[in-house]
Order: sequence, then C-alpha cells, then structure tokens
Amino acid sequence: MTQNSHIRIGSYDVYLLSGDHLKWDGGSVFGIIPRSAWAQKLPPDDRNRVTLGVNQLLVKGPDFLALVDTGVGTRLTERQREVRGAGHPRPWAERLAPLGLTPADVTHVIFTHLHTDHAGGATVFSDDRQEVLPAFPRAAFLVQEGEWQDACAPPDGEANAYRFADFLPLLESGRLVRLRGNQRPLPGVFLQVTGGHTRHHQMVRITDGQDVLFFPGDICPTPFHLGLSWKTSYDQFPLETLAARRNLLGKALGQDVLVVFSHDPRPAFRRLTGSLEHPTTVACDAPA
Ligand SMILES: [Zn+2]
Repeated sequence: MTQNSHIRIGSYDVYLLSGDHLKWDGGSVFGIIPRSAWAQKLPPDDRNRVTLGVNQLLVKGPDFLALVDTGVGTRLTERQREVRGAGHPRPWAERLAPLGLTPADVTHVIFTHLHTDHAGGATVFSDDRQEVLPAFPRAAFLVQEGEWQDACAPPDGEANAYRFADFLPLLESGRLVRLRGNQRPLPGVFLQVTGGHTRHHQMVRITDGQDVLFFPGDICPTPFHLGLSWKTSYDQFPLETLAARRNLLGKALGQDVLVVFSHDPRPAFRRLTGSLEHPTTVACDAPA
C-alpha cells in the first residue's frame, strides 16, 4: 500500500493495491529503446533486470467489491519465482485486512488478461495443498472469451506466459464469466477490448460520469511506456498496443483524468501531462 493508495470516484472508493515486484530483463521491458536511454529512467541491477511493480485496483461500490487483476499470487515455487523474477506477495487475507475486508468480501474479479502476473493471484492452494482453489470464494471471475480461449490453447510464443492452474479452477468453480467485447459489467465499471498485448486484452475505466480513472493494463505497463516509441518486447500485436496507447493519451493527456499503471515501479494515481511526443506523469498526492 502506498501513501496515496485511495481515492474516490463519485460514490466509489478505489484502492491501489501494490506491495509486490517483478525483476525483468530491461532489454525485454523496453524493446527497441537503447539501454543508455531506459537505464536513466529505471536503473538495471547487475543482471540487467529492472524492478517493476505488480499493481491491482480494488473498486468498492454500493453493492459490489471488484478486484482488477490479481498479481502473481502465492503458489509459485522458489525456483519458479527465480525464473520469473517474481517476489513474494502476501496472501490476500493479509493484503485486504488493513481495509477491513476479507477475500470473501470480493464479489467480482476482472482480468485485463490471463498472463501469470495478472491471473496467478486468483487461485490458492487448499490447506492440505492437494487442490488449487479460487482465492475469492464468492467472486465471479470476468475475462474476455477470446482471452480465455487463447490462455487455454496459447498461440505460438505464449506458452510460458500462461499457467493453466491460474485459471482452470475458476471454470470448475462455476463462477467464470466469459465476456464478448466491450462491456459495463458493473455500474461505473467499463471494459474496453484493446488487443495488442494479447489478442483480447482489455483495459478498465472507472467513472461516475464525471471523474474518470483508467487502468490500461499492459498496453502501457509503466509511465515510462507512454511514449509511442517505448514498446516492450512482450506484445503479441505491437501496432494494436500503440493504437490503444494513442487512444489512452487522447483521452487522458492534459485532462483531469487519473491513470494507474499495472507495472508502475512507484505505484500511484497519476495524471498525464506533457505532449504526445513527450508524455509524462505527475503523481496525484491529494485524495481526489
Ligand atoms: Zn503484466
């Protein structure tokens, strides 16, 4: 939890949940950008890895509690964590307790996509570690139908990005909801299919009709990726990612609009400033 981890959007309370990190190869994270340029913004360690955040949103409405993405989760072995550069996120019960909430209070889980760093936290081991179960015993789990299909039968090059145990138990629970296209699954919660990072990746917009907050997922994983040249190497469809990012910039740049980045190493509610050629952000310290 960061200092500025809560705002209100109309009657909705929105929490920025963080506290985990990933260490990924800087060359992969910044694609064609030369190391001399990205290393100034995010200095690498002695293995050329940069430290990224793993951030989620929690949206509390009058009669729902929706979690957007779930992080890496607690089921990876030490070896798997080392390979994936993953940290050690605390169990959800511990993460939600400071808010006076429990995993059973979560009514909806919304996935931008099902890569392990977004879906792994949706499931946990049973107490005897013999089963993998949904981490949120009452929640409905919302994902795009196409993303579900691709996760279950990954396209070439994507096999290591998805882990079946992250999401197959959600189907078995009977609480998986497969969406087709743009949706408003809850009052004030809008989902827009962007493609790009994965073919059916979606971004999330929270609004009461006046205030607006975007969670663009991995079409713009950090504030450093706002520039249209700053592509990662992880996108399946890079041109779609850039189109979605340009669309985000059109809606948020210079506007009184908040953005939370899924892998922001300094998690914050941010506003976008600067120009289309040189976009930057300012962290919003004061509650909106
Ligand atoms: Zn990600």
